[in-house]
Amino acid sequence: MDEQSKSLDVISRKFPHRRFDPLRGRWVLVSPHRTQRPWQGEVSKTEGVSAVRYDPTCYLCPGNERAGGKHNPSYSSVFVFDNDYAALLPDSPEIPAEKTHPLLRAEGERGLCRVLCFHPDHSLTLARMEVSEILPVVDAWAAQWSELGGRPGIGHVQIFENRGAMMGASNPHPHCQIWATEHLPDEPAAEFDNQRQYLLQHGRCLLCDVLQAELDCNERIVCQNEDFVALVPFWAVWPFEILLLSNKHLSAMDQFGPAQRRNLADILKRVTTRYDNLFQTRFPYTMGFHQRPTDGGAHPEWHFHGHFYPPLLRSATVRKFMVGFEMLGMPQRDITPEGAAEQLRRLQEQHYAE
Ligand SMILES: [Zn+2]
Ligand SMILES: [Zn+2]
Ligand SMILES: [Zn+2]
Repeated sequence: MDEQSKSLDVISRKFPHRRFDPLRGRWVLVSPHRTQRPWQGEVSKTEGVSAVRYDPTCYLCPGNERAGGKHNPSYSSVFVFDNDYAALLPDSPEIPAEKTHPLLRAEGERGLCRVLCFHPDHSLTLARMEVSEILPVVDAWAAQWSELGGRPGIGHVQIFENRGAMMGASNPHPHCQIWATEHLPDEPAAEFDNQRQYLLQHGRCLLCDVLQAELDCNERIVCQNEDFVALVPFWAVWPFEILLLSNKHLSAMDQFGPAQRRNLADILKRVTTRYDNLFQTRFPYTMGFHQRPTDGGAHPEWHFHGHFYPPLLRSATVRKFMVGFEMLGMPQRDITPEGAAEQLRRLQEQHYAE
């Protein structure tokens, strides 16, 4: 290590500094000297491993009645349906521009929301499912993305899992949501701008270059297989945030072959198992994939990736809040991304409950 990178290393481990997120186009404040401060804030409840494999009151369990009177089939693998309380509707009317003030703008937004149950067993999570059971979930994601994204007027398909009561998930049954929207939502829109700018300026893909830089310095890699790398990004906001990158420059799941689908299932199992093992709890998070916009364009700038945003900070009961300076200024973190990656890397890939 040369003198310059050594001094950078010391500074970034000991002193406050800020780091730039080139994908989102924003800064995060890192305060590594602050990790020893005493905690007198909220202590949340822990979520242990559940033993309830079928819950007669769960609206996602096979055969049960959902709100609105529909009955789930006795499904044995994955099960997808239109959300009974969808945030988006396919026939929401247009709002004529002449009816709105230029500074008080509104637009119609058409789309649809689906729910995808991962498994009939109410007690499971991705971490407790076999790779062979996660594979049908990946296949369903790919099929849903292609079907919904192929509809006229759908510009983006967001697949996401909100796991755990701490993240506001209303039901512990293993499931995710799929929201297809007319417009590109803000997060992927910012990533689209930054990836396109980078390609224009450098003639290369932003995330291909980020992946190469991360592999070269090898400080924040958590685990990897032949097709995917899971790492704590240099600019991570959440304490144990993970960025999941495809090794190859692929823009969406429709470009995945059988090996990539299986390896996505494999890396999801390994990441979520490490998460559960970290504090020996059902680790809460919001997870989702960012795939190319579905406006029909080729999108050479877009690199397939997934984000895990988990709220836990230092134990199963102490979470990070995005308040104060973070609401009014910028995101801030205490433990360094390097320290978080090291903790995650040291963990076993066998689930603590097995
Ligand atoms: Zn259930
Ligand atoms: Zn790329
Ligand atoms: Zn993203």
